[in-house]
Amino acid sequence: MLKLNSKELHHHGNRYEMSKAPASKIDIKRVGSSLGLNFAGPISEETTFPTIPDDSTITEIKLNLGKLTLVNSWGVRLWMKWLWDLDVRFATAQITLEQCPPAMVKQILVVERFVPERTRVSSILLPYYCEACDKDQVSQLRADDLILKKTPDRVAKALGTKDCPLCGGVMDIDIMPDRFLGIFNLKK
Ligand SMILES: [Zn+2]
Repeated sequence: MLKLNSKELHHHGNRYEMSKAPASKIDIKRVGSSLGLNFAGPISEETTFPTIPDDSTITEIKLNLGKLTLVNSWGVRLWMKWLWDLDVRFATAQITLEQCPPAMVKQILVVERFVPERTRVSSILLPYYCEACDKDQVSQLRADDLILKKTPDRVAKALGTKDCPLCGGVMDIDIMPDRFLGIFNLKK
């Protein structure tokens, strides 16, 4: 099986966009006591979640969702079953979600118990739209950056626009930022 780290996934990202009905892809990589899983494509009834055997030496499980495209209703069920089982069996490990795309942020905010309570969200991808380029872009927002800023109002305002990486013009955020910021309440 081809293993790609998140950086490589970024460079090979087009692969997933080219195919009409891309399959979901979940790669696992262990570094020391940390287990990293990279998700790409959709989460649906077609998704086979990896079986992770009990291992008390694992202290951290990082789920990188940066290349995840959508989660359908069946996917919600499978995801919850898989993650809650992981949460119980790896009770001493910290489970962290990284680079949550809008599709994932929405599920976390809307679907009750979509993630176990002690799951940490370390970063999300905010959607922007550049009118001049007619292109969607995402910008990463880390929980740690948020702590440095003052009030939620000011953060939401600051996130409202960003410079387009392609034309340098101003692009607007595609969601209500204050609604998305609610996701970081999960952080303990
Ligand atoms: Zn632009």
